[in-house]
Amino acid sequence: TRSTRPQRMLKAVQKNAIRGNPESVISAIDYFCKHSEWAMNVGDEKGCILDSVVTEVDPSTVLELGTYCGYSTVRIARLLSPGTKFITVEFNPASAEVARKIIAYAGLQDKVTLVEGASGDLIPQIKKLYGITTFDFIFLDHWKDRYLPDIKLFEEYGLLGKGSVLLADNVICPGTPEYLEYVRNSPRYESRYYPSHLEYTKVEDGLEKSLFLG
Ligand code: SAM
Ligand code: MG
Repeated sequence: TRSTRPQRMLKAVQKNAIRGNPESVISAIDYFCKHSEWAMNVGDEKGCILDSVVTEVDPSTVLELGTYCGYSTVRIARLLSPGTKFITVEFNPASAEVARKIIAYAGLQDKVTLVEGASGDLIPQIKKLYGITTFDFIFLDHWKDRYLPDIKLFEEYGLLGKGSVLLADNVICPGTPEYLEYVRNSPRYESRYYPSHLEYTKVEDGLEKSLFLG
């Protein structure tokens, strides 16, 4: 049978990136997506905004929803201070398998715990299973209709502390209107839009950064 896009992305990494070098893994994936096949990674342009938010927050605990092939996982993990707990969640086993290989190729396997499962099942158990109190930084990039129910689960299960930062991708394209309306109107968040473009295109898209005020 024909290979899948994630498998072809992994091949491009193995062929063109330097083992143990996260920057070269990121570049190899961006090159593949610009010149061979579009893929739903956060990409280089929004990736720079992601990088700057991670650096600014300098989190001790990180959660990513939606690993796909591990592109954003590598971007985030390479910037974390030693000892940071980083959990990334993916419910597609085939994508998770590729992500594990790409994360390991970048040499970042000891900085990340990849959990296979659905966000809505995992969030209620995450404190107990992973010894987390609250997350300093959360990157939302899974299916867009889950952003709102999952932020409500974070609140319900006490996973946000004063100063926690949520960063949501694709708030314009494909769009997350209910989530945006919620974070922009709730008095518990201070929210700001970062304009950019859909990965590997010129289509308008952006990230929403929401600071939890407690
Ligand atoms: N963050 C990745 C990056 O920038 O490299 C891209 C993630 S991709 C846009 C979304 C991924 O979320 C898909 O691989 C999909 O299988 C996964 N996903 C969607 N809904 C999910 C859920 N509720 N729980 C866990 N994974 C989910
Ligand atoms: Mg995205």
